[in-house]
Amino acid sequence: MDYKYQGIILNKRDVGEVDRIYTIYTLEAGKIRVLGKGVRKPNAKLAGNLESVTQAEIFMSKNKGMGKITGSIATNNFSNIKSNLDLVNRVFYVFKIIIRIISEEEKDENIFLLLEKYLVAMDANEVGEDKVDVLTLGFLFQVLAEMGYRLEMEKCVHCEKKLLLESNYFSISRGGILCTNCQGRESKKMLISNEAIKLIRIFLQNKLENLVKLKVSQSDINRLKVILNESINWFSGENFRV
Ligand SMILES: [Zn+2]
Repeated sequence: MDYKYQGIILNKRDVGEVDRIYTIYTLEAGKIRVLGKGVRKPNAKLAGNLESVTQAEIFMSKNKGMGKITGSIATNNFSNIKSNLDLVNRVFYVFKIIIRIISEEEKDENIFLLLEKYLVAMDANEVGEDKVDVLTLGFLFQVLAEMGYRLEMEKCVHCEKKLLLESNYFSISRGGILCTNCQGRESKKMLISNEAIKLIRIFLQNKLENLVKLKVSQSDINRLKVILNESINWFSGENFRV
């Protein structure tokens, strides 16, 4: 059977003498792993369109086992990202998280669209260091929400009362915030500022491309990173540090 996919190349790994296995997030089938046969031969044409951090149309054939790539056309090379070492490292790290937390062959068009938006925004010329952080945080909070791990930021996860501007606590095992009255019920928790709660709400409720307009202080970014790392590590069982 022959297939045509829209995909974003997340990563590649050399196998055998001249082959590679690619991990690709596709619109049509979610995360897949496919074989690029002979792509490391000196004259192989296929490899150029299959660099990590490339959006491409991928043609493949698949019968039993792993599919084989038969052709590809790059539709976005994200050349600004690739020419900036800090950006490319950041995107690779995010891809590593995505590869770890997303199961294979579970189609989710929204995750594909989020990935596409994230790369387009990161590739834009005017993206500065602080925006890189905001986009990355927003992207990962939204991916987690899309996967069903939406953090509850409106009401207390125990008593379900609307959160007030008081001392609130974040608990990843409870999936959200405990209010002052209920925080004693959980031992593994951390104080979360009202500003951080407000920002996570904004991240979850707005389009990713609009988050670049947000002004977020470095100290708030650092606080949000703590919450995000807790969340990702809870779901992945690994020790990621965004
Ligand atoms: Zn409560």
